[in-house]
Amino acid sequence: MKLLDYMAENSYEQVVYCCDPGAGLKAIIAIHDTTLGPALGGCRIRRYSSEEEALTDALRLARAMTYKNSAAGLNLGGGKAVVMADPKEKTEALLRALGRFVQSLGGRYITTEDVGTSVRDMEFIRTETRHVTGLPLLAGGSGDPSPMTAFGVLQAMKACAKESLGSDSLKGRRVALQGVGKVGYYLAGHLQREGVITIAADVNPEAARRAEKEFGLTLVEPDAIYDTPCDIFSPCALGGIINNSTIPRLGCRVVAGGANNQLAQEGDADALAQRGILYAPDFIANAGGVINLSFELTGYNAEAARAKVAEIYHTTERVITMSKAENISTARAANRLAEARIDSVRRMKRIYLG
Ligand code: NAD
Repeated sequence: MKLLDYMAENSYEQVVYCCDPGAGLKAIIAIHDTTLGPALGGCRIRRYSSEEEALTDALRLARAMTYKNSAAGLNLGGGKAVVMADPKEKTEALLRALGRFVQSLGGRYITTEDVGTSVRDMEFIRTETRHVTGLPLLAGGSGDPSPMTAFGVLQAMKACAKESLGSDSLKGRRVALQGVGKVGYYLAGHLQREGVITIAADVNPEAARRAEKEFGLTLVEPDAIYDTPCDIFSPCALGGIINNSTIPRLGCRVVAGGANNQLAQEGDADALAQRGILYAPDFIANAGGVINLSFELTGYNAEAARAKVAEIYHTTERVITMSKAENISTARAANRLAEARIDSVRRMKRIYLG
């Protein structure tokens, strides 16, 4: 399909191709929807095998940000930048060149860190544009978003536990944690303080040992995590891990984690429900990081950001209520929640702005 036809059919507003040969920059910025506000989404640097692959990634990720930002109650739309480069070879020149393209969009797109970029990189981008967030703490930014992401996942977990296990206290519950990198590490800390029995796995033995030492959790082999009897399975590593082959292995009542795109397909949420497993939709559970970043745009206040992240508990409750009332999966309910907010604002704008 032609790009413009695809954009029209899937409600994309703008796709910008950015090229600066001197700086080694080849990038695509996709803006999905700005009904709620400027499009906020990270800048991903990856060695894409083709321009088509980079475009597909930019489009998919930009749309996902529209849903995440809307459901989180942020006055922000969804967008994404992808840079076709090896992240190990990124330079100040490349990042500043990207910053100039972001600036050229006049605030319709706000960039931040993602896979292949760091808070330090945002400082380079900041030299060329003010439409960037996720700066280091020392530069007046909000720093690493992972602690807030983990705090948000804890809220989603508690809301699901209340629904499925009868109480939002996690004391004495068993949580199987997949991945103890940044988000998983901070989540393991919360779980320890909540009195949870945590069983964890990580393909990186160093990360696994650090979490074992600091939080006294029990380690299992990475593949064994799916078969671990537990109350809650918490994916905090990769996408696509809830699928045909893993769903029958899960011995939990709740899936709630920080990983993006946990479901291999949307129908996997129905398969979980059929097994009596309550799924906390990933973009609801892991919105803590972006909520935190959004507070940087108006002058960062950690306390206010934390209070907004805590609302993930109620958002998860709303999704569960909607899923029961409409007899749909929680994944579909989360999408509807995000779409309903955008539709109502769009209607209101039409009435008042013509
Ligand atoms: P990370 O790279 O710091 O941690 C991921 C961890 O998972 C690593 O320690 C890695 O070794 C481990 N891992 C990889 N494959 C594994 C496997 N098969 N089994 C067990 N462990 C495995 O990344 P992160 O920032 O903690 O992000 C984790 C997930 O959460 C990603 O999907 C990311 O997109 C998502 N996410 C992160 C944030 C954030 O604030 N960092 C926000 C929203 C979503």
